[in-house]
Amino acid sequence: MSLGTTLRVTRQRQVLLDELCKLYTHPTADELYQIARKRLPRISLGTVYRNLELMAEHGMIQKLEVGGTQKRFDGNAAPHYHVRCLKCGRLDDLNLPLDLDLDRQAGELTDFTILRHSLEFTGICPACR
Ligand SMILES: [Zn+2]
Ligand SMILES: [Zn+2]
Repeated sequence: MSLGTTLRVTRQRQVLLDELCKLYTHPTADELYQIARKRLPRISLGTVYRNLELMAEHGMIQKLEVGGTQKRFDGNAAPHYHVRCLKCGRLDDLNLPLDLDLDRQAGELTDFTILRHSLEFTGICPACR
């Protein structure tokens, strides 16, 4: 969701964005912190959290509210589906076409103006099977 203002791209945010876009694992803030520290030795975990939240609010990245304990982040800001392993927590992108008709149907069933939807499929990954 965009707040309608542009977020200034600081060096810290640029590094976080770079690293996040390189990963397809949907890392947690802690995991990104460990990676970002190698390029920004003085960055703190709090700064990483704050910047990730801000970038998600501005639609530059996605914050994923998925099953499991920790929030995870996605460098791909476009809506797409995910599949999660119930055993190890692995979270992959799922290359299923976005079903925009779901938004229309949800809008008809409620008083809401539907903006988007997200879908998470769960199962057991090949390594855990
Ligand atoms: Zn697994
Ligand atoms: Zn994703």
